[in-house]
Amino acid sequence: MQLYGKMTAATKSRALEFLKFVNSSPTPYHVTKNLAEYYNSHGFQYLSEKQELSPSLLKNGKSYYVVRNQSSIVAFSIGGKWKPGNGFSIIATHTDSPTLRLKPKSKKSANGYMQIGVEQYGGGIWHSWFDRDLSLAGRVLVQEDDGRVVQRNVHIDRPLVRIPTLAIHLDRSANASFSFNMETEFAPLLGLEQELSKEEVSEDNEAHHPALLSLIASELGSDVSPKSIVDFELILGDYEKARLGGIHEEFVFSPRLDNQGMTFSASRSLINSLSENSLEDDPCIRVVASFDHEEIGSVSAQGAESNFLLSVLERLSGSMESYYSSMRSSFLISADMAHAIHPNYSSKYESTNYAELNKGTVLKINANQRYMTNAHGMAIIKRASQLSKAPIQVFVVRNDSPCGSTIGPKLAAMTGIPTLDLGNPMLSMHSCREMCGTKDFEYSVQLLSAFFQNFSDMEKHIVIDN
Ligand SMILES: [Zn+2]
Repeated sequence: MQLYGKMTAATKSRALEFLKFVNSSPTPYHVTKNLAEYYNSHGFQYLSEKQELSPSLLKNGKSYYVVRNQSSIVAFSIGGKWKPGNGFSIIATHTDSPTLRLKPKSKKSANGYMQIGVEQYGGGIWHSWFDRDLSLAGRVLVQEDDGRVVQRNVHIDRPLVRIPTLAIHLDRSANASFSFNMETEFAPLLGLEQELSKEEVSEDNEAHHPALLSLIASELGSDVSPKSIVDFELILGDYEKARLGGIHEEFVFSPRLDNQGMTFSASRSLINSLSENSLEDDPCIRVVASFDHEEIGSVSAQGAESNFLLSVLERLSGSMESYYSSMRSSFLISADMAHAIHPNYSSKYESTNYAELNKGTVLKINANQRYMTNAHGMAIIKRASQLSKAPIQVFVVRNDSPCGSTIGPKLAAMTGIPTLDLGNPMLSMHSCREMCGTKDFEYSVQLLSAFFQNFSDMEKHIVIDN
């Protein structure tokens, strides 16, 4: 049996750093804000897409980031020796996870209960949302005194709502087959009408419970009243905090691992790669792009299939001619969580090409190009693994099983950049509560840092098209 590294202080502290990140990131808006703050704290400069963004205005050796819709973010560090036409080393991730979103008219009630109407977002394992303490978070557009409408993020960090199951006494078949109607049997309970104060009863709002609007306003601060709330996008999430688990703390129990796990690792690897002045001699630009809307197909103004990343790369290139030659000297890693083998369902996995927790980052391979990894990418990532000593493993889906996909194929097709799919192994993907290995965070940070630091060298030595 091969022994993998013992849990070190660095490995554990990276996992603890992730716990902080995910616990303060209940929505893609919070993910983006937390990433922006992280990049700011490492000297990155914010750039508006509304302003000119050309190579002459930016400085080699400096780092920048661009945000779209406050839910997608592209950060980049320009190598000291970069010039238009040179390559980009890119890691792409997604900021969103399956969830339940408040409907535009969310007010519901029945039998004295206040309920809220929710719409499913993405392909969640919805039964896992029953009997869980759920919190509410998202973005609120608030009209300020001067008439401007601005976005404020809100996180009501307490167990606010719950979707209860039906007692076993009233449904003896529940253990054999738990199925439910998403529209009629999946409405969260917000409270009891009998508890409403006189003021709450007298306030009228046809779209949402006035008590809920008052709570949102008070969470946003004393300068916000329910009347100044223009609109919002609010989602539910697991109230319970992410934490370490298992007898040796070898597990991470957490919501939203897919894909905050790799979004976290990608951002940390970019910063980690800047140490030891390695950017000074780099002829490439290092990019981490984190997109909203992967869970619903990536087609939106800020999804991976939008022009967000493309336009940034084009503008950094200065001319279309430089852009096209850059694309052919670039490489993209699509970093999204991967499936670890599940001991209770091992027959669902291919018997040789399966991945295990805490054994390193998983390269996802699919002959039908649901994942982009090919021999070119393998040569690059194997080199990064050798240099960083970070373990890697491979995953192939069974021939008789359906296969997921990622933003990798879309980005590869849109840009023509050779692309590879990888991610940390996990269980319960798309459940309200997922799990992964504690050590794999640091393994992936080391692996991806080595990719950033050594890509220009690898690009020269791995000759596919010349
Ligand atoms: Zn994902």
